[in-house]
Amino acid sequence: MRKVLLAIKGLHARVQNQEILHGLDLEIRSGEFHVLMGPNGSGKSTLSSVLMGHTSYEVSAGAVQWEGKNLLKMKPEERARAGLFLSFQHPREIPGVNLVSFLKSSYNAVQTKDAKISLFQFKKMLIDKMSVAGMPLGFMNRYLNVGFSGGEKKKCEILQMVLLEPKLAILDEPDSGMDLDAVKDICRVIKALRNPKQSFLLITHNPRILDCVLPDYVHLMVEGKIVKSGGVELAKRIEKEGYVNFMKAKGLKIL
Ligand code: ADP
Ligand code: MG
Repeated sequence: MRKVLLAIKGLHARVQNQEILHGLDLEIRSGEFHVLMGPNGSGKSTLSSVLMGHTSYEVSAGAVQWEGKNLLKMKPEERARAGLFLSFQHPREIPGVNLVSFLKSSYNAVQTKDAKISLFQFKKMLIDKMSVAGMPLGFMNRYLNVGFSGGEKKKCEILQMVLLEPKLAILDEPDSGMDLDAVKDICRVIKALRNPKQSFLLITHNPRILDCVLPDYVHLMVEGKIVKSGGVELAKRIEKEGYVNFMKAKGLKIL
């Protein structure tokens, strides 16, 4: 049996005094690929922020264990060092910080080794990682996300995942705003990274991406909790029927 990486039990969380997560349960084991779908506003990005330790989100009940330890007690940087990674749905632009400095700082910050990598060694490694992520080398000296197209911002998030090699990558709609070729590129990168130790939680509305990444589990999230879990067939049914019709057919509450 694979080891449990992340165990979420009865998680309630609120932002600005409004409860968004209402008792969410989810377990992810080492090497598993999970997909999270759900209507806009159901709390998928909120879950990602809570897992990463965003300070605007307050956990009001429930527990989250990471490799058996209390994740909620860990600072965001400790979570990153422990192997948790989030690619943002809406990456921020940071003028004045170029991509290579940002990535080098991130890389050094999650490394547990004492010796920090030199800029020369880092650039050498980054060239390889950029080619894996399909990101042209010309981006290296540009300010982080400034003037990037929607698709380029998402590729830059993927590059961070490739570089940091997390145990669990939470990818929040990495395919939104991307053209068809770029979605294929993302599928190729994810497939290349899959191995028995790498877990994914992919948030997407796009069933086409699931044909290529072949997830182990698909979950449907509505109003702050997971209301249905299954395999790829669940995503196919949701694609055919839409969220509302699917929930009606299953006798699930529609809000
Ligand atoms: P999803 O990612 O499933 O579309 P979100 O987690 O982004 O859903 O949002 C769920 C609900 O929480 C929405 O009603 C959204 O407006 C609210 N919400 C999320 N983050 C914040 C925030 N920082 N401030 C206020 N409301 C928020
Ligand atoms: Mg979202």
